[in-house]
Amino acid sequence: MNYTGRFAPSPTGPLHFGSLVAALASFCDAHAADGKWLLRMEDIDTPREMPGAADLILRQLEAYGLEWDGEVLFQHTRHEAYREALQELQSRGEIFWCRCSRAELTRGNNSLYPGNCRHFLSPRDDAAVRVRVPAGRATFTDRIFGPQTETVEEIVGDFVIQRRDGLFAYQLAVVVDDAMQGITDVVRGADLLSNTARQIVLQGLLKLETPRYMHLPLVLHADGSKLSKQTFAPAIPLPADGSLLWQALDFLHQQPPVALKQEPLHEIVRWGVENWQPGKIQPTNF
Ligand code: GLU
Repeated sequence: MNYTGRFAPSPTGPLHFGSLVAALASFCDAHAADGKWLLRMEDIDTPREMPGAADLILRQLEAYGLEWDGEVLFQHTRHEAYREALQELQSRGEIFWCRCSRAELTRGNNSLYPGNCRHFLSPRDDAAVRVRVPAGRATFTDRIFGPQTETVEEIVGDFVIQRRDGLFAYQLAVVVDDAMQGITDVVRGADLLSNTARQIVLQGLLKLETPRYMHLPLVLHADGSKLSKQTFAPAIPLPADGSLLWQALDFLHQQPPVALKQEPLHEIVRWGVENWQPGKIQPTNF
């Protein structure tokens, strides 16, 4: 089976238990398929970055036995590729420059872009670049959440691919890099499920392959909020605590034997790969 997976953390903080679940699931899925598992550091949103987080994430992954194949791809080295993708879209009139303020756009509590600037087809100062979303539905079958359909044009509308401050948006970078790295399988948290349709729209416009998608149930705090850097989820500790890997497998309904918890962490990871059954993961917490 041809399989290339990836883990793509943003260095906005260290990995927490929720990110460990995503990393481990993606690692097990890739290795169970005899595939490659790549690491991409999504460091394009510089204002949100935490100094030192990228290094810390690499050390955390190594310490938890999640070693990646090949070199780490840092998105800050990829601006040229994002610019080329943007130019390709521009050459076909598929993007426009929008100076609307957030206040103008959220009037009436509507998050759907109203199309105000669709006629600005060439660069303007101090403007975001939006992609003109074609009519039609984006459909895909998520390996856990099943068939998904979204009419991006009606739900989100023309979305931003380069921000007003000049930074390329996640949607563009993720699509360009998944294609360049030959990613066949995206395994990530269900908080990104609703982004997938936009990514499929961009893949269509840029004539890129659409990978298979598997979104994972989210780990929640006791109050029901998502474990995240914003909700101050604690970093997974260093030196590594192997029992967290066991807990991650348990969270993913892999039914790891209790005795495995005491084993060295490489054994826990190996058990995870050898016994990987994504069909047991429940489409919950979304
Ligand atoms: N960098 C994104 C994040 O940390 C993940 C992107 C992805 O897996 O597509 O939330």
